[in-house]
Amino acid sequence: MADRITPRSEDYSRWYTDVVQMADLADYTPVKGCMVIKPHGYALWENVKEGLDRRFKATGHVNAYFPLFIPLSFIQKEAQHVEGFSPELAIVTIGGGKELEEPLAVRPTSETIIGHMYAKWIQSYRDLPVLINQWANVVRWEMRTRLFLRTTEFLWQEGHTAHATQEEAEEETLRMLDVYTDFAVEDAAIPVIPGRKSESEKFAGAVTSYTIEAMMGDCRALQAGTSHFLGQNFAQAFEIKFLDQNNEQQYAWTTSWGVSTRMVGAVVMVHGDDQGLVLPPKLAPIQVVVVPIGKTEEDRVKVAEVVARVEAMLQDDVRLRVDDREEYSPGWKFNEWEMRGVPLRIEIGPRDVKQGQVTLARRDVPGREGKRSVPLDGLCEKTAEMLATIQSDLYDRALDFRKAHTYDPQDYGEFKEAVSQGFAYSWWCGDADCEAQIKEDTKATVRCIPMDQEPRKASGKATCIHCGGEASERAVFARAY
Ligand SMILES: [Zn+2]
Repeated sequence: MADRITPRSEDYSRWYTDVVQMADLADYTPVKGCMVIKPHGYALWENVKEGLDRRFKATGHVNAYFPLFIPLSFIQKEAQHVEGFSPELAIVTIGGGKELEEPLAVRPTSETIIGHMYAKWIQSYRDLPVLINQWANVVRWEMRTRLFLRTTEFLWQEGHTAHATQEEAEEETLRMLDVYTDFAVEDAAIPVIPGRKSESEKFAGAVTSYTIEAMMGDCRALQAGTSHFLGQNFAQAFEIKFLDQNNEQQYAWTTSWGVSTRMVGAVVMVHGDDQGLVLPPKLAPIQVVVVPIGKTEEDRVKVAEVVARVEAMLQDDVRLRVDDREEYSPGWKFNEWEMRGVPLRIEIGPRDVKQGQVTLARRDVPGREGKRSVPLDGLCEKTAEMLATIQSDLYDRALDFRKAHTYDPQDYGEFKEAVSQGFAYSWWCGDADCEAQIKEDTKATVRCIPMDQEPRKASGKATCIHCGGEASERAVFARAY
């Protein structure tokens, strides 16, 4: 591990790895491509989970658990699915010292085994809809891995729903896209662009895939969550059939949707700075850290009294840590908690005690500018207000950053320049060969076709930024993680 954080301007990728390790989020393991999520990183993930799980339940979903091992033949049942996932599969061929009759895949995603079970559980229209989510780990054998962003084993949630009609399933797919957007914006303070994936970028086996795309601190894109309309593809492969109200046999319509521990990587890259992590208060494992300051024994006693009062005032309302370790200096502690991204620090010294006040220091506004003294009376309200301000300022800052690095190139020359520096929002013909050519030229891909399309200008037909063919939609192009 490095002994200092590499500045972002020097090497963004090193900066990321340094922050993840030095802020104690995760560590490498003897198994290549796998990671240990350390307590601070896991607490952050738990808050992501809580924010999502609450929203899933509010929209009628329940949690269940399906097995880690999936018969290999299941994965082979849906043609596109097997084609998409085969290169990444981990397969178990020996169990209990004996060769298995049928090899088992370690789940890369659970459409197949869940499809098999749904076929058993769904007989009639009365059994629908089925709205199940599971929190689980999955394994996708990756060649090049990065902590949180791409690991061989990762944690996620996968929702799997079955419906009587196409309309209901499509509604569900978009509902979950909204849920993800709401979580990203409200809890993670990450501005996202909800949109549709191009044909070549969609999930293996889906009819339509939707995504939320975010801009990272180096102007590259990160897919932060996906929601798929699976049509009847899996229902046909797994015989998920039901008798409708007219007593006729129908195939069900299914969806799936997921957010993974990648979200933690997104939080690091959207908000972090050269001092380390900057966490949005709603996700921060510790929202407020109290650091007492005092050189003499007499000072320390007086300060300790006020610290105890502050702790009693705040502990029910905020996730609070009092750092009264005597073996470290206040300056050392400031650095430590800044690196770990704690949104707000309360400093209490002898002068504060004398004046019946404390000093608040914002993590997102470095130096003097982010500090202010506030009276002890009303500290609860002030703290809540300050955390809310930090939360919304982080979002605004990230949105401004994305806007400043999103371009509307006028020709393909400008387009190439634009995707080397950020997002290009351009008219596109929708053709897969055109998309492949753009990727080859620029390494940029269609991140999504945004749901919110700006109305076309009255001035005639729009043409594709690359091939000049007729275009009816604009797409966001960028280099991506
Ligand atoms: Zn084109």
